[in-house]
Amino acid sequence: MNCLFCNIVKKEIPAEVIDEDGETLAFLDINPRAPGHTMVVPKKHYEILSDVPNEELGSLFRGVKRVAKRITEALGANGLTIGINQGRASGQVVEHLHIHLIPRFTDDGGTSLHSVVHNAPKESLEAIASKIRGERKK
Ligand code: AMP
Ligand code: ZN
Repeated sequence: MNCLFCNIVKKEIPAEVIDEDGETLAFLDINPRAPGHTMVVPKKHYEILSDVPNEELGSLFRGVKRVAKRITEALGANGLTIGINQGRASGQVVEHLHIHLIPRFTDDGGTSLHSVVHNAPKESLEAIASKIRGERKK
């Protein structure tokens, strides 16, 4: 399988790496939405979050925490938008799990995660919660 981010992990394709440990790599997005827009990836190839074994989740999110601190301090960001596009429907293009960290600045003109979709449910919260909990219809 020829995966772009696996190739970046293997250093076969250049990237502006800003953080690395045994399990994770963080590099600047080539098409940044804000200065310091970074992606943290597991070095092993997983497509989506649920594919990551439990024992590897800790190091992944420690990487996210470390990078969040580094870019916030280095760039003087006032906040961060942190997110995963999971699955094509959500806009995932590169099929190697990556967590976006987008530095946010007061009055940067951006909006919150709530603006990525406007698909208000037709069912009640109760009905949806019941479905997710796996309860049978009464
Ligand atoms: P997504 O839509 O979440 O799959 O995002 C993929 C991201 O990868 C996009 O924000 C791209 O700008 C970024 N990207 C694509 N190719 C490269 C590359 N060679 N180096 C760094 N970032 C890249
Ligand atoms: Zn990969």
